[in-house]
Amino acid sequence: MDRSVVIIGGGITGTLTAVRLARSGWRVTLLEAAHIGAGSSSRTAAGIRQQFSTRETVLGMRYAVDVYKRFPEEVGGLVSPIVQNGYLFLLEGEEARAAAAARVQTQQACGLHEVELLSAQETAFRFPIVDGDRISGATWCPTDGFLRPEVVYGEAAASARARGVRIVQGAPVVAGHHQGGRLVEVQAKGERFGADLFIDATNAWGPRTGRILGGTDLPVAPLKRYLWFLGRGGAMTGPELLRMPMVITPTGAYCHPENADSLMTGLAHDAPPEPDFDNEDQDRIDAEFDHRSGVDSRAYEVWAQVADALPAVGDFAGIHATTTGFYGATPDHNPFLAYDPAVPNLLRLVGFSGHGAMFGPFSALVADALAEEGGPLEAVEVLGQRVPLAAFAIGRDFAGHEAMVI
Ligand SMILES: Cc1cc2nc3c(=O)[nH]c(=O)nc-3n(C[C@H](O)[C@H](O)[C@H](O)COP(=O)(O)OP(=O)(O)OC[C@H]3O[C@@H](n4cnc5c(N)ncnc54)[C@H](O)[C@@H]3O)c2cc1C
Repeated sequence: MDRSVVIIGGGITGTLTAVRLARSGWRVTLLEAAHIGAGSSSRTAAGIRQQFSTRETVLGMRYAVDVYKRFPEEVGGLVSPIVQNGYLFLLEGEEARAAAAARVQTQQACGLHEVELLSAQETAFRFPIVDGDRISGATWCPTDGFLRPEVVYGEAAASARARGVRIVQGAPVVAGHHQGGRLVEVQAKGERFGADLFIDATNAWGPRTGRILGGTDLPVAPLKRYLWFLGRGGAMTGPELLRMPMVITPTGAYCHPENADSLMTGLAHDAPPEPDFDNEDQDRIDAEFDHRSGVDSRAYEVWAQVADALPAVGDFAGIHATTTGFYGATPDHNPFLAYDPAVPNLLRLVGFSGHGAMFGPFSALVADALAEEGGPLEAVEVLGQRVPLAAFAIGRDFAGHEAMVI
């Protein structure tokens, strides 16, 4: 049976979904406003972890890690994009330690047996880079790590093309045409693209795409996030830096090696929503966050927070770059992975908050299952466990939020 789908947006979500649906026998067209990877997918810290607080996210991430490890056979290319250096969450105070203990129980119940709660002494012994006097402990998962995002969307796009997917770049979708309440065509680059099913994979642009297509107005807030890059310095060698896990300090600053000479750092900071951001705003660096503004900028604040937890980083050679992009944040930090009640053949895969790169394989799996079903589904199964989809539904009450988003 010939079944066709148009996917809108060529980031990690759109390209992985394209491969998955092509494998399931769909005739796929992917429309991307600019070029593959033009959105947050090329601006991400690309951490990947299974240490989340809700069962749905932990299971989705366990599945994602498994797919990213077997990327060449599951998606394509020659290498896996995942670097499993582990994730170390440093804790301060007894309350934080108790909350972490409860999370570790949830995570282990989801099959993440390798996650551990460490005392301050154990942490400093196993990770000499950490100042053990400043913490009450840590949680550690060795199978977490970070991704090479350009490998994910680059190889996924190549694999999609090899499977017959038509990818049209420079093609912003500007209109939708409906018949009998269903979307039948979208318009981009002066051409009309008809299909049985349409998928919105535009994340931070999701509310706008929804308006264009007559969909539900989703609460997805485009929020600026910054990354800063420190040059290696002091006594740390290149191989030592390359072996560093992703570390999250008790203040929410995080870092992981970008390469043997550079440490990426970031922070969850307040930011006003920018619903009308344009493409250039993705790279706009506000003075407050720009390392070139000097030592009063937030860049230096983050460096100080990381150095408090990891004193060796205090001897690094300085900050050499600031980059930025948008989160598409929802009120409960869970994405929407669901049919749009206003347009029954429109799937919305948007609102990934801080974890859309890592969630990509799970988002694609849910899209595939919903596409096969042709309507809403209560749950999907991953790694032998049932994952209810209510947490990702449109119209949910946002009560059961994912607490572990940075
Ligand atoms: C600083 C920073 C740090 C982050 N850290 C992490 C992290 O550690 N781990 C993690 O998993 N995630 C992280 N994220 C979030 C992650 O980057 C995103 O959730 C993820 O990249 C979203 O991928 P996507 O494919 O859904 O969206 P995007 O990559 O944004 O792709 C959407 C695409 O849609 C296109 N588009 C928009 N409108 C239209 C239209 N009308 N027609 C056609 N195309 C359109 C855009 O051009 C864009 O290419 C971070 C993000 C930032 C900014």
